[in-house]
Amino acid sequence: MNSKFFRFKKQKCYDFKDQTIIIVDADDDHDFECEGFKSPRAFMSCGHVVTPMSLTKWCQHLLAEGQSRFFCGQTNCDAEWSYTEVRKMALLTTKEKKYFEKTLALNAARNLFGTKPVSTCLKKA
Ligand SMILES: [Zn+2]
Repeated sequence: MNSKFFRFKKQKCYDFKDQTIIIVDADDDHDFECEGFKSPRAFMSCGHVVTPMSLTKWCQHLLAEGQSRFFCGQTNCDAEWSYTEVRKMALLTTKEKKYFEKTLALNAARNLFGTKPVSTCLKKA
């Protein structure tokens, strides 16, 4: 119980006072494991809803898959998010920023020299 409380306390939350973030009263589209993050929800540029925690998790998942770009995790939405948007909307900490930037560069280099993911070719066709 204590550990759960602690975990919740550490969650990143949007600040209602931040005028650059559009807070909405909607379900978190990117909470794939139904964790019910406590942060207010906000719109991404494509119109899908995230919380800082669900967005961080989703983007970490993309990086772990070897992606060098971020895109929306919703079916039928092929919106690509810039790192600037992700960094802002996921409220990335200094440590997370370092990890994201390092992994992005690494994945980009790997994709350049290795075989390109099939999805990239399909999208361009
Ligand atoms: Zn979307």
